Amino acid sequence: MQKKEYFCMHNRNYLLMLRIVNAILDVFFPRTCPACGQLLGEHESICEECLSKLDRTQQALYRDNVVETIFEKEKHFSYGGSWLWYQKGTYLQKMIHMAKFGRGNPLWLEQMGREAAKEWEEYGFFDGIDVIVPIPLHPKRLRIRGFNQSEAIAKGMSDVLKIPMDTDHLTREVNNRKQSQSSKIEREHLKEGLFKVNHPEEWYEKTIMLVDDIITTGATFRAATHALKDVYNCKIVIFSLAKTK
Ligand SMILES: [Zn+2]
Repeated sequence: MQKKEYFCMHNRNYLLMLRIVNAILDVFFPRTCPACGQLLGEHESICEECLSKLDRTQQALYRDNVVETIFEKEKHFSYGGSWLWYQKGTYLQKMIHMAKFGRGNPLWLEQMGREAAKEWEEYGFFDGIDVIVPIPLHPKRLRIRGFNQSEAIAKGMSDVLKIPMDTDHLTREVNNRKQSQSSKIEREHLKEGLFKVNHPEEWYEKTIMLVDDIITTGATFRAATHALKDVYNCKIVIFSLAKTK
């Protein structure tokens, strides 16, 4: 337990430090949009124009969307959606890929989380959600990467929605290899025991929104919903920043 708290603190300290360093650098070297090179405003990590051009799924408006079809058979699953379409060769792909492999910018992810929350809040997508839970990384991976990309997104969302983020109850028990390197059978096998819920009673009858950066096969979310199967009368909402087409 002690160890885990250290890593969470480590993640938060990292984000805080990054924010301070960025603020200092801004004075001397104005930041530019990573997609188009235009000068950025104070809390921006992407310019408004590039933000508006990102390919929205509009899944918040549609029940039985493709994300809901993936998870409809999972116990306690209520509804879900991905904010953007993820396609190879796009700016979004580059940024998410960089974040996943440790060279990314968690502040960019936070901004993405804030923008997604602002847009979908208007559709009522987050109504009734009690807690936002980012998909955790294994502590070893977190130490190497320095931050959890899902937590950065969830933090941005939590700030806008004023819904608490919880990084304590759901833990990752297995440090599996990169999804892309695992076979389909391996991924299915990992479903059992990949995540664990600590003190499940504290989530009884709560509506829990799980947050991750991207849905490809849905194996990670499925493993997380599996860990929540014995949480009495909970409801699971699934949100990801992007979904592969
Ligand atoms: Zn731009």
